[in-house]
Amino acid sequence: MPMRAMQLQRPARAEDRPLSLVETAVPEPGDDEVRIRIRACGVCHTDLHEVEGDLPLPRLPLIPGHEIVGVVDKLGSKAPGPDTGTVVGVPWLNWTCGRCRYCRSGRENLCERIRFTGYSVDGGYAEYAVVPSGFCYPLSDSLDPIEAAPLLCAGVIGYRALRLAGVHGPGSTRSSLESSTTRTPGPLRLGLYGFGASAHICLQIARHWNCRTAVFTRADKHKQLARGLGADWVGEAGEDPPWPLDSSIAFAPAGDIVPKALRMLDRAGTLALAGIHMSPIPEMPYDLIYHERTVRSVANSTRQDVRDLLRLAVEVPIRTTVEEYPLEQANDALLAVKHSRTEAAAVLKVGG
Ligand SMILES: [Zn+2]
Ligand SMILES: [Zn+2]
Repeated sequence: MPMRAMQLQRPARAEDRPLSLVETAVPEPGDDEVRIRIRACGVCHTDLHEVEGDLPLPRLPLIPGHEIVGVVDKLGSKAPGPDTGTVVGVPWLNWTCGRCRYCRSGRENLCERIRFTGYSVDGGYAEYAVVPSGFCYPLSDSLDPIEAAPLLCAGVIGYRALRLAGVHGPGSTRSSLESSTTRTPGPLRLGLYGFGASAHICLQIARHWNCRTAVFTRADKHKQLARGLGADWVGEAGEDPPWPLDSSIAFAPAGDIVPKALRMLDRAGTLALAGIHMSPIPEMPYDLIYHERTVRSVANSTRQDVRDLLRLAVEVPIRTTVEEYPLEQANDALLAVKHSRTEAAAVLKVGG
């Protein structure tokens, strides 16, 4: 049985439409895998870095896509579940070994043999995908399949970036990954640099957690969306919000954001860098980091991060702003993401 997929044969600029529509065999689930009939797949900035060759590709041809929402339609012979008919989400984290020193210390996001959806294995720009049974997540009925897609990476990475930047919910226990810095009393003051799929989800979580929020972005429609979602201050990188920031997250893949963000960071503040790829960080004076400021990157996520974010999505509740594209227009969706033409998140609508 054939299926339609948008496949990458060779990396090229998004303007050169690197993905081509192919008919390929519907994949069969391995022993511990399940097969998913895909309904939607979000278009992440990482997909752009893949197709344009910013990231080394472990295999070609490749079907990208790691924000999958679909219905389980077949179980491998040893897969314990989820049952057929269950609506599930599939994120970037596709498989971890469970045995290396990172896996054994609660840091499977750094696993030495880690695999990623739509990168190490074929992903969601297709009608079907297979995934290890333990790495897909039943979705609440209250989530719309199209609007839920960006939660799977933009949401999960945003959530992890918040925690790595020292932001956490009331009553939540601090884990070792969180910043242990003490800060001035009052609401935590959070800065978000770049306002796309991930930041617009982060902002909603941060407000739910009673943070005071500053959003730095250039595009008018992103400024409007940030104001509409309740940001306390909206401006551009390099402009001064009315208060210094305890925590900041850089979503834009531009290294020159780093000194700009550090300049606005209060003493002992933390800046988290959420992207998988960033242009070089310019040389900067030590003063910007002095006073116990921290800069750290965010790499992948754990299964617990995914579960936590999906629970929060219902609790907040998180509403994503999406622009739908049919599967065959994946190249157009990538271009829109590249040039920040989408209001927030782009999602491929695959099946009914
Ligand atoms: Zn491992
Ligand atoms: Zn992603």
